[in-house]
Amino acid sequence: MSVKRFPLAVGFLLAAVLLAGCGFFPANSTPPAQVDTGSVTFVVDLTELQRELITVGSAAAAMVKGDRVIEQDLVLSASEASGLVSDVPVGDWQATVRLYDELGDELAAVQRTVTVEKDSTVEVVLVAKFQDGRVTLEPPGMEPDPPGDGDPGDGEPGDGEPGDGEEPGDPGTEPEPPEVSRDVRYIQSGNRTETRTEVYIIRSSNPGPTAFLVGGVHGSETSGWIVAGEVAKTWDIDRGTLVVIPEANKDAVRRDRRTGRDGRDLNRHFPIASSLNSSSDWLLAREIWNVVLEFQPVALLDLHEGWGLREAGDRFPGGTLSVGQTIIVYDAGDAMDFAEHVVNVLNTEHNPFYGTAGLTYNFRIIGPPIKGSLARKAGADMGIPAFIFEPTQGRSGRHQTTVAQRAQWSRVVVEEFLRWYGLID
Ligand SMILES: [Zn+2]
Repeated sequence: MSVKRFPLAVGFLLAAVLLAGCGFFPANSTPPAQVDTGSVTFVVDLTELQRELITVGSAAAAMVKGDRVIEQDLVLSASEASGLVSDVPVGDWQATVRLYDELGDELAAVQRTVTVEKDSTVEVVLVAKFQDGRVTLEPPGMEPDPPGDGDPGDGEPGDGEPGDGEEPGDPGTEPEPPEVSRDVRYIQSGNRTETRTEVYIIRSSNPGPTAFLVGGVHGSETSGWIVAGEVAKTWDIDRGTLVVIPEANKDAVRRDRRTGRDGRDLNRHFPIASSLNSSSDWLLAREIWNVVLEFQPVALLDLHEGWGLREAGDRFPGGTLSVGQTIIVYDAGDAMDFAEHVVNVLNTEHNPFYGTAGLTYNFRIIGPPIKGSLARKAGADMGIPAFIFEPTQGRSGRHQTTVAQRAQWSRVVVEEFLRWYGLID
């Protein structure tokens, strides 16, 4: 293997888009200040995938800190993917490394907190492994890192809930009995195979209800698609069927932006009482809706992130109130009962910010979901409880949260959702 020369192009994207949450795009970007910087190198060992004849088509790293996003394509050689990001402001960054196959479908993703120090280079080394039919990214020479570590539910170890760290491929663990099946199919917008996206169908051999989980409707709302992806790939259920579309707008997720390159907001393309068959409807929205209709879920949960704090009265430039730290409820069936339950769990057991700057940071219930959203259509057309979860990203200089914190909140909501609607014990 030869030594690689890494491209030094660094995209500092003052991501007003990242701040946009679910409302509008605030025009509050500020010029970069002179700050201390360091560098990050990424190295992913691909030798095991080579042995398994799995071809990596591309690889990328994305680093997020507050309202800043840095994206870097990694350079592929036969046995590794690598890249250098320089001029990174010091501090803790949430770095996500992703591998894609030749069709552009994601093979694996992992997130790490990376601490950048002044004038030094921090190295992120990962090993791609192939176990139980899937690719994972792990630190070298270590046990697989349970994505659900520190999860809600960890107080009851060994009860088989999601998030207990019973990783497939953990060498110390016997494989679970094959009572949960996991199928993947793809949907796409028209003939656009390059942005096709996965639909995971997780079935228990025990009969039960069907629930629907969505992430990645807005690509910049990172924790939503991270957690939906974890659920799709690693969580088991005790009964029924769980359908997950983790990266609903694949192009938006890849770009870490609210929308894909076409600029269309997927959560405004689900008109009520429409079969989405007119020529003006978005084919991707139609495909998603057809999956919902096919499976007839008893409830639907769409994972997003919000900007600002509703509690603080934060408003977008147009005057619209922030939806940060809310669950947006379509009030059908027992939707309000579930919302009150999950908000109580979040606020009493998972709020490390309570009282900060005179604010509670408590989640609150609002609704209904905005017209054109998937949750609004599911609630209105099917009469089912439908929810949009909006943990706050914060806003410039205030109420900042990490992707890890937002992901933890989202895992709580998913777990409570699955338990409430009968899919897990
Ligand atoms: Zn959103």
